[in-house]
Amino acid sequence: MEPLGAPATLAAAVYHVAVNTCIDTLRNELPADVLHTGAEVGDRHASDWSGSHSLLPEVLFRPETTEQVSRILKRCNEARQPLVLQGGLTGLSGGATPGRGEWALSLDRMTGIVELDVDALTVTVRAGTPLQVIQQAAAERDLMLPLDLGARGSCQIGGNVATNAGGNQVIQYGMARNLVLGLEAVLADGTVIPAHNKLLKNNAGYDLKHLFIGSEGTLGVITEVVLRLYPRTRTRQSALCGLSSYDHVVRLLNRMRTLLPSVSAFEVMWRSYYRYCTETVDLARDPFDETHPFYVLLESDGRDPGRDADRFQQALFDEMEAGLIADCVVAQSHKEREGFWEIRDGIGEILSRFRHTANFDIGIPIGDTGRFVEQMEARLRERQPDIPPLVFGHLGDGNLHVVANSGTPERQADIEDAVYGLVREYRACITAEHGVGKHKKPWLDCSRSTEELALMKMLKRSMDPNGILNPGRIFDL
Ligand SMILES: Cc1cc2nc3c(=O)[nH]c(=O)nc-3n(C[C@H](O)[C@H](O)[C@H](O)COP(=O)(O)OP(=O)(O)OC[C@H]3O[C@@H](n4cnc5c(N)ncnc54)[C@H](O)[C@@H]3O)c2cc1C
Repeated sequence: MEPLGAPATLAAAVYHVAVNTCIDTLRNELPADVLHTGAEVGDRHASDWSGSHSLLPEVLFRPETTEQVSRILKRCNEARQPLVLQGGLTGLSGGATPGRGEWALSLDRMTGIVELDVDALTVTVRAGTPLQVIQQAAAERDLMLPLDLGARGSCQIGGNVATNAGGNQVIQYGMARNLVLGLEAVLADGTVIPAHNKLLKNNAGYDLKHLFIGSEGTLGVITEVVLRLYPRTRTRQSALCGLSSYDHVVRLLNRMRTLLPSVSAFEVMWRSYYRYCTETVDLARDPFDETHPFYVLLESDGRDPGRDADRFQQALFDEMEAGLIADCVVAQSHKEREGFWEIRDGIGEILSRFRHTANFDIGIPIGDTGRFVEQMEARLRERQPDIPPLVFGHLGDGNLHVVANSGTPERQADIEDAVYGLVREYRACITAEHGVGKHKKPWLDCSRSTEELALMKMLKRSMDPNGILNPGRIFDL
């Protein structure tokens, strides 16, 4: 093979020898289709969905087995060669985008269902399996995996677990962490940790899976996951509501939690986002004749086909009578329901059209959110009056999304400065679901104490002493 790069100093020469030895060793130890260099590395491995600072890695590994992952990590650790881990590359914080000198390890060939246990209500899957494939496998057995997000067709379960993904049904079932019973992970030195727990109750010592969930690939490579399944609900009711104030939005959530058997989605869209999606870029149809300051996509799941629809409609009717809801459309078919979600999920298409997007997923108590948004909009009007922020979120989970089409890196930085400044004032969280990655690193101290950061770094140093796994993500050592 061609040696990689050309060394300029003595230290670089030593590193150069080590990495070339590492490549040669791995070429001997791995099947030919696992290790790719130079032009064999596809463009898609240059960046995650956030798109910025894309860089093609010089070397790409596409292992098929845990044993191969272990071997790659062992050799890279010996050579102190940094690696970036890549799942479905739908991440929005730059975590899977290669940095200079990093080689990439993609899980895209480690796919498939290992076991679906209908009695224990668990499914064991390989980490590279797309989320939607697992959802479908569960549905075929009349079960459901209640983890769902707009990127479901492309994101992988390993990436979902590594970022502790949230999504559309968190309000009822929690985030990925709540659905993971066990996992298998490979440490930086190649040690395989088989923690395939299937039990709901297991208090035998530390629950090590939590070290890997949400650690954004900095502590180990997740290679298999055991997930919790639920019996499929029998009914789903969906409505789109127009409301006149944020106070009404909060009161509606509280009322629906009381009146309905379950609230499985409570997605709020501020007028800015709703109109941009339905009018400016015309991505979905607006079913209302008049505009409203707030829109709520409300869903309730149930198990009583005889009564659920009536109960849902009666609850909405009562709140309209009481003046809490200004207008409301209840989906009468699957197609109409999909039409509502096209508005909410239009963000995927919107993001793909923006340049230098300032993209926030803030965690903030629902009671503070209305005031926060008003103040944020006022500050942004002063600093960047021609860039209106689009606001929406999983409000039932205290998760606010804001996106702004900044156009240039300078304007993006200015918008981020304004919004994270306010996040700090509110003691809110800089990321409720997308993770810190590289992009939100400068603001981590808004949301974590000095002591928490010190403990995180201690864990990182002890589990990955050579710092080869996703270096520079979450924090710098
Ligand atoms: C249209 C759209 C909608 C979205 N909606 C949501 C949403 O509602 N909720 C939400 O939480 N997110 C959402 N996201 C963000 C993204 O889809 C999630 O963060 C997802 O979990 C990332 O999975 P992935 O497989 O694409 O991971 P990647 O983007 O490939 O990687 C994400 C991070 O995980 C690490 N990683 C990946 N695989 C592994 C592994 N096997 N072991 C260890 N580390 C690994 C990577 O190094 C990186 O740091 C959305 C994204 C898009 C584009």
